[in-house]
Amino acid sequence: MGISRILIANRGEIALRIHRAAHEMGIETVAVHSTADADAMHVRLADHAVCIGPPAAKDSYLNMAAIISAAEIAHADAIHPGYGFLSENAQFADIVEAHGLIWIGPKPEHIRTMGDKIEAKRTAGALGLPLVPGSDGAVSEIGEAKRIAEQAGYPVIIKAASGGGGRGMKVCNGPDELETLIAQAGSEAKAAFGDATVYIEKYLGNPRHIEFQVFGDGNGEAIHLGERDCSLQRRHQKVLEEAPSPVITPEERNRMGGIVAKAMADMAYRGAGTIEFLWENGEFYFIEMNTRLQVEHPVTEAITGVDLVREQIRIADGKPLSVRQEDVEFNGHAIECRINAEDPWNFTPSPGLVTNYHAAGGMNVRVDSGLYAGYRIPPYYDSMIAKLIVKGRTREGCIMRLKRALEEMVIGGVNTSIPLHQALMKDPDFINGDYTIKWLEEWLAKRKNV
Ligand code: ADP
Repeated sequence: MGISRILIANRGEIALRIHRAAHEMGIETVAVHSTADADAMHVRLADHAVCIGPPAAKDSYLNMAAIISAAEIAHADAIHPGYGFLSENAQFADIVEAHGLIWIGPKPEHIRTMGDKIEAKRTAGALGLPLVPGSDGAVSEIGEAKRIAEQAGYPVIIKAASGGGGRGMKVCNGPDELETLIAQAGSEAKAAFGDATVYIEKYLGNPRHIEFQVFGDGNGEAIHLGERDCSLQRRHQKVLEEAPSPVITPEERNRMGGIVAKAMADMAYRGAGTIEFLWENGEFYFIEMNTRLQVEHPVTEAITGVDLVREQIRIADGKPLSVRQEDVEFNGHAIECRINAEDPWNFTPSPGLVTNYHAAGGMNVRVDSGLYAGYRIPPYYDSMIAKLIVKGRTREGCIMRLKRALEEMVIGGVNTSIPLHQALMKDPDFINGDYTIKWLEEWLAKRKNV
């Protein structure tokens, strides 16, 4: 029979992205929405729509009972969670399957394992991925913590086992501050994630963030679709992503890609996943795995031609991977700019009425966004309102095209991060691909001082 109607448990551009893939496969969609999103584009385009609660995410997009009820009322046979919200919630995945619905995502046990960063590191290590040196598990006793930190070498970073979104991390420069910082990290983690467990790893001074896209069929076949460089970050949040990474050679891509694909095959991973590494002096260090589609997935689509959402749906439907590793080709270069409704320099959120809107177009330009003129950006959710993805035959050509596309974008009535991206495109370090995870914050600080 196969999947015929997908409920999209998300909002904004990603809800649209999933709707588009579904319709291209002849599958109907059900949008769910909060009262704040009644006029949203994903609601307008979907075949059916169900209001699931008031604006606060905990009452709507995180409300499992309301979403399951909506699926039953609208006769959906599958649920796609997008990213964020419930996408990495193993309990929700279990509930979806227990209700006889198809979960368009990895096996719940893999979501659970990778959602606990300590378990994830242990699993990755056992599968042969290179790890950041540090504690083998949770640290609680200060004597042990000091020994581990000493061995890894200061500075070290204290991280929350349940952390996410760049939160719950503390850098420690020496043994004197270790005890205080562990206590602080623990109580912050408890408050944010309900779990005080922390672990220690070596703090890499100036790495790049390089992640691999993987896909498994759940039965022991797996492929990789190359890497993305997401080193341009502010407060550990990605701002711009590109593929391929300016520093990875084809040989290195094949070698590391082969290692991650084998790891996924060995664990019989199902669906889309991302293995995140820090990369320094030619070495990869695993930091975490995301068991979902990523915001930045379109750069991979641009250079491989593989529709990642279509692939997710196919696999959830029990079909094999549509491409074999030997058929995957990497063509050209792609960059994604995340466009947020915020002040481009002080990052104050800027929700409100979009008075006019014009999306960039032309060859190899893609805009994923739910914006339209007259749309009111609600203040309750993430500030990302559009993604501009541009492809070129070379990195240089890609940057030229991106400059042109950024000029064409019009989003009136609210502040956006477009001017920030325009300034980046003119920076010699960016143009040379010469940046690490620290670069953007240093660049922003320099701008402030002039
Ligand atoms: P989250 O799940 O909160 O995103 P990650 O483990 O993926 O946490 O780390 C987020 C970011 O924090 C990384 O992209 C990097 O910028 C920084 N970071 C994490 N671990 C280290 C480390 N060991 N050394 C230096 N920077 C790190």
